[in-house]
Amino acid sequence: MYRLELDRTMCISCGNCIESCPELFEFADDGISSLLGVEVSDLQVKEFDDPSCSEKAASNCPVMCIKLYRDGEEIT
Ligand code: SF4
Repeated sequence: MYRLELDRTMCISCGNCIESCPELFEFADDGISSLLGVEVSDLQVKEFDDPSCSEKAASNCPVMCIKLYRDGEEIT
């Protein structure tokens, strides 16, 4: 099981995550990155079995506000 966390309070709206992983990220109405299908809040969490492009998005975030965990262990 994978767990993706997005700390929106740190996001600088560079767009890297959306460019590298549009399946999971979008800009919300406030101009800050947001996880698709998750209610907009300061800390968003999404869990899934297939990591898809989330690892790429996390590694491309310049302020490291995207964290990816596999079975409870942080991998990015
Ligand atoms: S890559 Fe990071 S800083 Fe850039 S828009 Fe995505 S979450 Fe925000």
